[in-house]
Amino acid sequence: MTSPYLELVASLRQAFPQPVSDRVHDAYFVFSFLRALDQLDSMKSASPLLGQPVTLDYDAAKLATVEKDPQSLEQVTQMLVQQLSGLFIWGHPRAQINVVPPPTIASVIGGLLPSIYNPNLVSEESSKQVAVAEVEVSSMTAALIGYDPAKSAGLFTFGGTATVLYGVKLGLEKACPGSGRSGLRERAVILCSERAHYACLTVANWLGFGQDNVIQVPCSADNEMQTCLLETMARDVLKSGAKIAAIVATMGTTDHFGLDDLASIHEIRDRLVDEFKLDYTPHIHADAVIGWAWSVFNDYDFQKNPLDFRHRTVRALAGAKRRIQKLPLADSLGIDFHKTGFCPYVSTLFLVKDATDLEMISRQQSDTPYLFHDGHYHPGRYTLETSRSGSGPLAALANLRLFGKDGLRSLLGHIVAMAEELREHLEGHAATTVCNRGNFGPVTLFRVYPDGIDTFGILDHELKDARYREKLLAHNEYNRRIFHLVQAEAVKGNGVVISLTDCYRETDYGEPMVALKSYILSPFAEEKYVDAVLESLWKARAIIAQEDAATR
Ligand SMILES: *Cc1c(COP(=O)(O)O)cnc(C)c1O
Repeated sequence: MTSPYLELVASLRQAFPQPVSDRVHDAYFVFSFLRALDQLDSMKSASPLLGQPVTLDYDAAKLATVEKDPQSLEQVTQMLVQQLSGLFIWGHPRAQINVVPPPTIASVIGGLLPSIYNPNLVSEESSKQVAVAEVEVSSMTAALIGYDPAKSAGLFTFGGTATVLYGVKLGLEKACPGSGRSGLRERAVILCSERAHYACLTVANWLGFGQDNVIQVPCSADNEMQTCLLETMARDVLKSGAKIAAIVATMGTTDHFGLDDLASIHEIRDRLVDEFKLDYTPHIHADAVIGWAWSVFNDYDFQKNPLDFRHRTVRALAGAKRRIQKLPLADSLGIDFHKTGFCPYVSTLFLVKDATDLEMISRQQSDTPYLFHDGHYHPGRYTLETSRSGSGPLAALANLRLFGKDGLRSLLGHIVAMAEELREHLEGHAATTVCNRGNFGPVTLFRVYPDGIDTFGILDHELKDARYREKLLAHNEYNRRIFHLVQAEAVKGNGVVISLTDCYRETDYGEPMVALKSYILSPFAEEKYVDAVLESLWKARAIIAQEDAATR
């Protein structure tokens, strides 16, 4: 008679990958996964959802407890699959929702292998060649964006917010040396644009200098920081005796793909150092989590255009490249492979132009430099995290190899071409207007209007003229109704799922402007689905007109 616990251990052993080669068990492992994929496959349809739309039951979730008895792997797998039902399929051609990419198979495998063998990037001891992969991806990406890989360094971290955190932390140590050790005793600020990600606020809050010390510089109509105002505002900060912890340039804003003018920001920074005889150089961090991928076009020959992009697409890609090619001017960079690099969450790289900057945040000041101390790699000495997964770097490496420059160029080119197509239609129609005109990216913000509105002038009036307040608010509501109608159709498999942003910007008189948003990031996007967006907009307009006529 074996003890019950030994029986349980014996049966649970079957739920682990076998430590010693066992082909039969491998087949069981793979087949278990295959069955999960099969079950997920049966949840696919013409609609961009897995299964049916779901009602989220948090009350039931709050009552969940751990049961006494183990369940079988099969039961658990089935439950996990169910947990995914109702999710959007980001790669579906009828999905234009947000900056969430469908991951490639290569990157899924890149993410999966470390979950089996569990390398820990805290040290090379526990991660071996996965640590080398982190260095490899860092160097490949550094070379891609224009840093010198021999001088720069990179580390994978927990998302775009973390890259801003690392950038500002380095800047804070430069501006207020020793503050990490002894605490901050003076006022320090972050300067960023008003369209910068709220990560800047999070970081100022968590680093302890306070989110009230994030100074947001107004943007131009193209959603770029107005650098002349940056200069004035930075000068005011310095005159007041405060320190500049960092200037954050947003290279691809979340909702609008606005690209800040890094060259001017860099010039202004250097001018201020001279003018105020600063004993530190304010750190420039480029939040390029979205825009970095466009650096594949830095050395694309737009004249010859060997990939044969359409004229309008070439214009858009070259327009983005004009700004993105300045990335090497930043002292550090944030890069999300899980956004425009088609990797699963989380695959985020923080790059620093000068690896020795990391000494400022290393745990033992006495044995610098840490990066390759004794020829060894010790990221755990300067990373905020202790345990770090190998999934991020391997997924990124997988896609960089899978795509090559031409592959990524083609994917981005296709996506931008589809977005251009949508914009062209929206601009050409009397009832719609594009809010981020002159934009070069995959995202389109637009507003739809009822009959009888002159859409050529309306946006400008709504933005600037307080007498339009009532109209603006009514049109905000109108666009919300359009969104709900389009959404309801789309989940049934007619039309396309788009999204709604409650405030793509504030009007000059302080009201939020609602906009509909199409974010195209699926390699399966095609013209006919762009047409489907428009058709569902017209349908929704007709329904609203009918409803309103009925209540009048
Ligand atoms: C998405 C985003 C972030 C946050 O990145 P996560 O990877 O989602 O944590 C920061 N900045 C910008 C501009 C973003 O678009």
